[in-house]
Amino acid sequence: MKKILVTGGAGYIGSHTTVELIQAGYEPVVIDNFIYSDGSLITGIEKITGKKVNFHKGDCRDKEFLVELFKTQGPIDGVIHFAALKSVGESVQKPLLYHQNNIESLLVLLEVMKQFNVRDFIFSSSCTVYGQPDHIPVNESAPFKRAESPYGATKQICERILEDSFVDGFRIVSLRYFNPIGAHKSSLIGEVQFGNPNNLVPYITQTAAGWRDKLTIFGGDYSTPDGTCLRDYIHVTDLSVAHLLALKFLDSRKEDTLYEAFNVGTGQGVSVLELVKGFTHATGVNVPYNIGARRPGDVEKVFADPKKANSVLGWNAKLSIEDALLDAWNWQKKLTK
Ligand code: NAD
Ligand code: UDP
Repeated sequence: MKKILVTGGAGYIGSHTTVELIQAGYEPVVIDNFIYSDGSLITGIEKITGKKVNFHKGDCRDKEFLVELFKTQGPIDGVIHFAALKSVGESVQKPLLYHQNNIESLLVLLEVMKQFNVRDFIFSSSCTVYGQPDHIPVNESAPFKRAESPYGATKQICERILEDSFVDGFRIVSLRYFNPIGAHKSSLIGEVQFGNPNNLVPYITQTAAGWRDKLTIFGGDYSTPDGTCLRDYIHVTDLSVAHLLALKFLDSRKEDTLYEAFNVGTGQGVSVLELVKGFTHATGVNVPYNIGARRPGDVEKVFADPKKANSVLGWNAKLSIEDALLDAWNWQKKLTK
């Protein structure tokens, strides 16, 4: 049974991936500082899997905490590093906080991994590393354009650190997520909004539930078919499975060091308006909206060329946007209760 350290595992994607890890027979060790989460998703993971989660509250920037954890948990076979601040909008308001948290977490974690000779590492990267790419669908060899937000810049810098540090004996996969949405089919875990991440799907479901009067669509004058931004929305469960395949990929490789980046997206560009209408079509629930100003830091359009993940990792998106919107809605109804 492989022991995998999951940082940020009390959060949205980390909790869904922890479920998949447990169900696939891995032994996750989960850490989180609860800056943007609490214990509720850990409880949800335990309900879904029937297993107690090996959870430790702590900060990835805290070297002493990590050293103690690596000592007491025995050999750790690999790390999946989700812990980060993730909101594009907030990062524009608080750029130094984003740089400090996201970059220092990575540096301290790598240092401690090296000390304990833990070499396999999966990094939560993002399509924001591409900035506004010249060609879409974008593939992994596209040059990084200037990041539109400090958040995107932290992901670019982290990837650069990882690319440079592979010589230190690390075996690294960066997964460049496109836009994860939806919730676990059990409705026991899903997206919880801490702070003000202002992600689209929770805002749609909260408006549909009457928590908000109206959804504001940020910008209706982009150079896209309906004037609203295009993204590649992917079910969080499909995204979680990509981490298991990345672990298997590292297992299958004999190199002492390696660095590979993969897009994890469906390849389908969907506009904000299409998603709002898709929600109403899937659930029958209307979402009042108005078109507002553009949000600083937003990229106009980006969607993935996922061929590399398809062929090398054997990963394919299996769930539809409709599945994701229905699961997000069921999760919202649970929260409302
Ligand atoms: P999330 O906020 O739900 O989870 C991140 C978790 O990390 C939170 O529980 C938070 O408390 C924790 N954390 C933050 N800084 C920490 C630190 N220094 N030490 C310990 N814990 C810390 O976010 P998420 O949506 O699950 O995102 C997970 C990862 O995926 C992040 O790296 C994010 O940048 C990346 N990502 C997310 C999206 C998205 O749209 N959700 C898209 C692309 C990439
Ligand atoms: N968006 C919006 N209204 C909202 C939240 C988001 O119009 O209340 C738009 C946002 O401008 C972007 C898309 O929805 O075009 C996805 O934003 P999100 O924050 O979910 O993810 P991002 O692509 O920024 O990581």
